Amino acid sequence: MDYGQLLRDARAAAFVQQGRGRSADYIPALAEADPSAFGMALATVEGVVHGVGQWEKPFSVQSVAKVFALALALAEGGDRLWRGVGREPSGNPFNSLVQLESEQGIPRNPFINAGALVVTDRLLELTGDAAGAVRNFLRSESGNPAVGTDDSVAESEARHGHRNAALAHFMASFGSLRNPVDSVLAHYYAHCAIAASCKDLALAGLFLARHGIRVDGSRLLSRSEAKRVNAVMLTCGTYDAAGDFAFRVGLPGKSGVGGGVLAVLPGRGAVCVWSPGLDAAGNSVLGVAALDALTTATGWSVF
Ligand code: GLN
Repeated sequence: MDYGQLLRDARAAAFVQQGRGRSADYIPALAEADPSAFGMALATVEGVVHGVGQWEKPFSVQSVAKVFALALALAEGGDRLWRGVGREPSGNPFNSLVQLESEQGIPRNPFINAGALVVTDRLLELTGDAAGAVRNFLRSESGNPAVGTDDSVAESEARHGHRNAALAHFMASFGSLRNPVDSVLAHYYAHCAIAASCKDLALAGLFLARHGIRVDGSRLLSRSEAKRVNAVMLTCGTYDAAGDFAFRVGLPGKSGVGGGVLAVLPGRGAVCVWSPGLDAAGNSVLGVAALDALTTATGWSVF
């Protein structure tokens, strides 16, 4: 299998869409990113990584961190997590407030911001350091001790994060959070602000392709839990465009407004693509197009 050629072909197919995406500007520190920068890495379950473009350049992982936070919260606390957060697609933007009132402060799923705040809250309760737990996990799975938090991005988001603060306070009013709102928000911003490369994230995503097994051979999640995380990625990982992502790519995937998309090839590997130009739903235009091209060329969707 010539993985390098597959990735080069996926990049070439994606670049037909060049110029159609815009970098996130609601977090000022992300606005400077070049919308047509591009990197893509594919890690196989054996732990071998292939890449094209800027696949070793760190970028702001943003909501891609939500996958790792969810997995760690399940690993540490088990099924109880699902009492506080659902697993249905929201059909709404990732930062929407509208469903929370009628649904009594229980977010639809762990991958919209409200749900990720609940997951962060539980992970903070379980570990004492939610952002540190995610960072350490990314370091150990990627083998890259340089994976770290970009404090300027976290501060930028904290200064402008009125929606996340509103979501957290609103949920607190329903009794949905166990820690003080300010601590939950600080850990949420800090884990979104982790900087990691496509290579790091593809390697770190392999435990989902290995049905729960970490790089050192130990088990993080049961096979059933890993299936569940993959299923929630497929149905909710790209927000109100999750249907379109399943239609085009056909893989469990999680995007972030830094332009990263992590996709899982169960039993085979993990792919991470990064390009900061986003569509209206907040997903990387070139990233989704490259994954679409990859699964169309190889037949590697889960369907
Ligand atoms: N930190 C971002 C936010 O809370 C993450 C959103 C995203 O990547 N979709 O708005």
